[in-house]
Amino acid sequence: MRLYNTLSKQKEEFVPIEEGKVRMYVCGPTVYNLIHIGNARPMIVFDTVRRYMEYKGYEVNYVSNFTDVDDKIIAKANEEGVSAEEISQRYIEECKKDMAAMNVRPATVHPLATQEISGMVEMIQELIEKGYAYAAADGTVYFRVKKFKEYGKLSHKNLEDLQSGFRALQVSGEDQKEDPMDFVLWKPKKEGEPSWPSPWCDGRPGWHIECSEMAKKYLGEEIDIHAGGEDLVFPHHENEIAQSECCNGKPFARYWLHNAFLNIDNKKMSKSLGNFFTVREIADSYDLQVLRFFMLSAHYRSQLNFSRELMEASGNAYERILNAVDNMKYFQKKAAAKELSAQEKEKLEEVRGYIKKFEEAMEDDFNTADAIAAIFELVKFANTNLQEDSSRPFIDEVLNTVVKLCDILGLKVEKEEETLDAEVEKLIAQRQEARKAKDFAKADAIRDQLLEMGIELKDTREGVKWKRV
Ligand SMILES: [Zn+2]
Repeated sequence: MRLYNTLSKQKEEFVPIEEGKVRMYVCGPTVYNLIHIGNARPMIVFDTVRRYMEYKGYEVNYVSNFTDVDDKIIAKANEEGVSAEEISQRYIEECKKDMAAMNVRPATVHPLATQEISGMVEMIQELIEKGYAYAAADGTVYFRVKKFKEYGKLSHKNLEDLQSGFRALQVSGEDQKEDPMDFVLWKPKKEGEPSWPSPWCDGRPGWHIECSEMAKKYLGEEIDIHAGGEDLVFPHHENEIAQSECCNGKPFARYWLHNAFLNIDNKKMSKSLGNFFTVREIADSYDLQVLRFFMLSAHYRSQLNFSRELMEASGNAYERILNAVDNMKYFQKKAAAKELSAQEKEKLEEVRGYIKKFEEAMEDDFNTADAIAAIFELVKFANTNLQEDSSRPFIDEVLNTVVKLCDILGLKVEKEEETLDAEVEKLIAQRQEARKAKDFAKADAIRDQLLEMGIELKDTREGVKWKRV
């Protein structure tokens, strides 16, 4: 498996630190609002990387944080007159709902920055002791960038260029820094902000140290893959490297993966341009599986342009897979109970060829665009080769392959509705029986159970009707 490493700017063979295991860290969102579709891209892309790694037999420890203390969260809390915690908790819950709707699996661990403060304080302390950080008079702690000779290695910037940029950007109030490039590890509390005690002052951590600490705590000092959006390369990931490597004395992450931007109608997404969509807004018009399909229809390192037209096209393409699966299920029910014919055996070789194509695409730096193309070849194969008189094992194998390959991409192609409907009907029948037996407690319990499943019952003259709520 080859993946493109931002650190070396080339594709490299994937060799895990520990055989059969992958330690992977993905920077998560700052939770002060509903997530937008720009946040959704890394979630979908790196969930797919994880799924493929698991398909290959790796045990993946996938850690993705929530930044739950930040200026934006505090501003929102003040605006609403509630605590920062209330804001972050609310949007973590909402984010998890969107993730589920996009079929993004929960991480092995979703650490919260506010729950890890003591570890961050320890890490900062260690950096001070090793001479990589210093506390200014007001209690702010800075990282001494020039002390880390490899600074800039991820973003491929050299210190001199950076320095001149920083001189131009230097703002007032920063004159307590030894050097304009130094960045904040700990900042003193301001009135009305959440804060924690530390040896330097009551305050809160800088954003970068959060990820260094959480990666270390949940994955160890050396990790295999660190991922995130390309906007995080500098300064966030560059600073993470500086902190982690100076503190731990070891290389931090072996492979750095970054997804490219998502544009809207060929323009950068921004609130001021009014082309800013939350995942929730997209869910009003589309099944989020279509959004997932759309995101994966391009390579993760290519810029992706979001437009209604492209979403419609994605919806139609995705529908073609669903229709093929439906047809195969129909054939499956009608299939003759006979063995594979010699011709079918030969045809299955062709199916294996599509699996190979799919795998080759994925092993080439997760080229999901080509992987989807392989699925469409298989769909075309299914549409031309499956018939009512095909044998059951033949249909099963083709159908299972389509479902499996789609599942690796996190695309659901089997209708869950049908099984849900069957379960609902069964429960309704049980409730009717309970009512007949005058066991009203049981009947009410079933009604409540259904309501929890999002099914509302209505007793009418024609019998029981149900609807989703
Ligand atoms: Zn991070």
